[in-house]
Amino acid sequence: MIEPVSNNRLMFMSNTQAPITQQPFPKSKMYKGKASKRLHVMAKPIGAVCNIDCKYCYYLSKQDLLEYKKDCSPKMNDEMLEAYIRQYIEVQNTPEIIFSWQGGEPTMLGLPYFEKIVEFQKKYQPEGVTISNDLQTNGTLLNDKWCEFLKANNFLVGLSIDGPEMLHNAYRTNRAGKGTFKQVMAAVELLHKHEVRFATLTCVNNLTSQNALEIYRFLRDEVKSPQMQFIPIVEQKSFRTTAPQTWSVNEQPMQGDKRLIPGNANSIMEPWCVSDHAWGNFLITIFDEWVQHDIGKVFVQYFEASLEAWMGRRNPLCTLSDLCGKGLAMEPNGDVFTCDHYVYPEYKIGNIHHDKLDKMAFSKSSKILVLASQER
Ligand code: SF4
Repeated sequence: MIEPVSNNRLMFMSNTQAPITQQPFPKSKMYKGKASKRLHVMAKPIGAVCNIDCKYCYYLSKQDLLEYKKDCSPKMNDEMLEAYIRQYIEVQNTPEIIFSWQGGEPTMLGLPYFEKIVEFQKKYQPEGVTISNDLQTNGTLLNDKWCEFLKANNFLVGLSIDGPEMLHNAYRTNRAGKGTFKQVMAAVELLHKHEVRFATLTCVNNLTSQNALEIYRFLRDEVKSPQMQFIPIVEQKSFRTTAPQTWSVNEQPMQGDKRLIPGNANSIMEPWCVSDHAWGNFLITIFDEWVQHDIGKVFVQYFEASLEAWMGRRNPLCTLSDLCGKGLAMEPNGDVFTCDHYVYPEYKIGNIHHDKLDKMAFSKSSKILVLASQER
């Protein structure tokens, strides 16, 4: 059965994995008699480590790029984990605090690690405040025990699935180059069996973009996805070593530049990316099906977000909003970056050992923090 989805908790994901959950817009800017304060961190307690090897992954290369590999264990230790949970709760003043867990593949940390997370959260949970968790996963390690835990603790799971078998397996492969579709469908079954709340994340690439209707119907009718998220895959060929927005003004390609079309000669984009036109056509095709048959039954995050903006509220998708910079990303050694898409040394804004998360989130030192200070 497709469950109705609350409209006051919109979420979006980075282009490969994780849900970034945006909290409801506060009715008032006050909570418990003080100014309401909220921020969001996508925590990566296992960094970029993953058990599979998707061809378009932009995390795996981070293992060579970032400092944490050189100076700390790839897994966030208990002391750091507890310090992070305590601080994340302390710096917010809001009725709901949402933790997001991402990798790499966070389930590689094992169930006891997540049981510890919940214990620490209970230890520091302020009275009257709800604590929620999102977990983004490729699904390949989920089993009954995991699902029992996720259900018991009301986790919202983001499951990466790119469509029917051939489309999914084109890029989402294990280290031996074999597709992961069957394992992910087993995870879908388990999530339904245990009634775990979940959303699907589908990457729109050069192949999936050509099969919009097939993918939408598959997610709706076979996966029975209650919430669908479609993310355009857009990466420059230099993404493994070079941070975004480091082009000089003169070199900056503008819309219409043929170098931006994946697969074109001299293209600066990875061939598996989706072009702007293909992405637009993908959304239009799905919208036409959804609007005729599925309004109120299937939640498509992109459409809901657009409606939100059309109604005069801020678009909850950061990529479509006039505001970004409060969705931080944190690596296992506590290094904090302005955004999951900007996990490059140039965009490191601090470390939770030395810096407070709220100071980092609201500081202008973040290079992509455009308007956050105006919003507060
Ligand atoms: S599941 Fe795929 S996209 Fe996600 S971190 Fe692993 S290799 Fe990368």
